[in-house]
Amino acid sequence: MSLTARQWLQKIRQLSLPKKVRIMNVCGGHERSITQAGLRTALPDNIELIPGPGCPVCVCPEEDVYEAIQIALNEDVILVAFGDMLRVPVNVSKSEARSLEEARAIGADIRPVASPAEVVRIANEHPDKEVIFFAAGFETTTAPVAAMLAEGAPDNLLLLLSGRLTWPAVAMLLASDEPGFDCLVAPGHVATVMGSEEWRFVVEQHNIPAAVAGFNNESLLAAIYSTLRQRLEDRPFLDNCYPELVSKAGNPRAKQHLYNVMEVIDAKWRGIGVIPSSGFGLREAWQPHDARQKYASYQDEARKRAGKMPPGCDCARVVLGKIYPTECKLYGAACTPRHPIGPCMVSDEGACRIWWSHVRKPAA
Ligand code: SF4
Repeated sequence: MSLTARQWLQKIRQLSLPKKVRIMNVCGGHERSITQAGLRTALPDNIELIPGPGCPVCVCPEEDVYEAIQIALNEDVILVAFGDMLRVPVNVSKSEARSLEEARAIGADIRPVASPAEVVRIANEHPDKEVIFFAAGFETTTAPVAAMLAEGAPDNLLLLLSGRLTWPAVAMLLASDEPGFDCLVAPGHVATVMGSEEWRFVVEQHNIPAAVAGFNNESLLAAIYSTLRQRLEDRPFLDNCYPELVSKAGNPRAKQHLYNVMEVIDAKWRGIGVIPSSGFGLREAWQPHDARQKYASYQDEARKRAGKMPPGCDCARVVLGKIYPTECKLYGAACTPRHPIGPCMVSDEGACRIWWSHVRKPAA
């Protein structure tokens, strides 16, 4: 029999918990559900729910965004990207375009898209132009991008890829001296594609309780309860609280497309640095669709040094779960969704944006 959210909360409240338990989530969708439902307030005070690395737009390297802006401004192309990428600011002087949105305002043909199917449609409608798809995302977004190529994209469709894998960021945190969390709620969307087994290392190598969760209150609270029980009983195991969509092995067809078209590479995360085996690159056979091959001159080594977070922006520490958004001095003051300083206030999956939309507590 499945329990209601109220019943899960009751079960959690009945646990004899230690002074403090820190549970990290690594999915912008989870953070949104938790914040929207006010789960932090509903749970006992000694349970901390920490938003972790769950926003691919927030960690997309600054030099990739800059590269996209420059290609769009200087080449006769149509550049398309998922909507929240358009407002991500880069570190340039005010006289230059600081985001794709600003580049569009001064004449670049930049269009927001919602899906790879839309990108293919635009490419088919403009056979005389190259359509550059700036694709930043985690496994859930990157798998459909791979499928788009595998299933036969038009020749004029090129990819500027900034795909990332979620688990290596968690592995990096766990390998550090201070992971900053005691339990993990693993991402349901990513596990739908990649399978729950991807998260087994959390339990087996680090002895940390883990549970895959879906996006409603019941599934999230079931996962929270599971990890708390595991911790109390000192019996960590990988639980699956999203069995209706998540299997151990994930979606074999999506994974096949992903690994046929792309290979796993070391990749940079904005403000964090290079995380081994944490990114996707196009395999050699797909290089005719690789915008980085065609427009190699826009890869600017100097940008990599300028690519940190904007001055004063604590987005990297927010992404790593080291601080809450409200602990950034700029939160709600200089930085709001209307005037974002860092990417965490731009993306719908960014913790700062989510907290501003639902909590709005000013910095202490
Ligand atoms: Fe960066 Fe703004 Fe978030 Fe502060 S509130 S960490 S400036 S995005």
